[in-house]
Amino acid sequence: IAAIEAVGLGKRYGRLGKWAVQDCSFRLPQGQICALVGPNGAGKSTLLGQLAGLVRPSRGELRVMGKTPGAARQQLAFLAQEKPLYPQFTIEETLRMGQELNPGHWDAERAARIVKEGDLDPGTKVRELSGGQRTRVALALCLGKQPDLLLLDEPMADLDPLARHQLMGNLLAEAGESGTTVVISSHILAELEGACDYLLLMENGRIRLGGETDELLSAH
Ligand code: ADP
Ligand code: ADP
Repeated sequence: IAAIEAVGLGKRYGRLGKWAVQDCSFRLPQGQICALVGPNGAGKSTLLGQLAGLVRPSRGELRVMGKTPGAARQQLAFLAQEKPLYPQFTIEETLRMGQELNPGHWDAERAARIVKEGDLDPGTKVRELSGGQRTRVALALCLGKQPDLLLLDEPMADLDPLARHQLMGNLLAEAGESGTTVVISSHILAELEGACDYLLLMENGRIRLGGETDELLSAH
């Protein structure tokens, strides 16, 4: 089964609003890293929200790991732009919460390793962290869950160059070792194209170009 199968996916906010996502169809095999690239307002967050089961499609068919996104909830992790972290918790307490919310499939070592890579002290409170550091803690929460599908909404935005490099390294390792499928969005193609197997270029809610990176780049 494909990690993601979308057919004619659409989303309109409100009954008379404009279509934020329109007629999007694609099929993403498992274990691939997919770059979702487009300018601000292209519909990337809305599409990711649909894949995460947080935004109900107004149109179309969507299967995630062969299920409806709601039914696949346990198998996916979503790094949204707003990080759902409690400011008064320490990093350590935050990760413990992740463990309690994901009994039976939590990888504490992996989560701790990601925090450690950023030279973060687990005793630090979330409210004392910079934006980039919060992104790192939120990513640790996502990967500790050992998801089959990892959805990342503009994770590079708050990261310094070293953290970006580490993030891409972590994602490649995830996809390579545990077969995790990754969808990562950005408005900068160059940030992602070298590392991605699959490319979706979005504009005005539509997928303008989609397919295997190798094929797309050799054809252009
Ligand atoms: P991107 O992530 O590529 O910047 P979005 O998915 O955030 O794009 O936005 C796509 C379009 O949908 C934009 O025109 C945006 O204004 C609109 N939009 C996004 N979220 C909402 C919402 N909750 N209500 C109404 N319109 C929205
Ligand atoms: P970055 O580009 O790493 O996100 P910032 O300029 O946001 O950098 O933060 C730089 C440093 O300042 C970080 O190491 C962080 O620990 C510290 N810092 C940022 N915001 C706060 C805060 N509200 N309280 C305490 N320390 C902070």
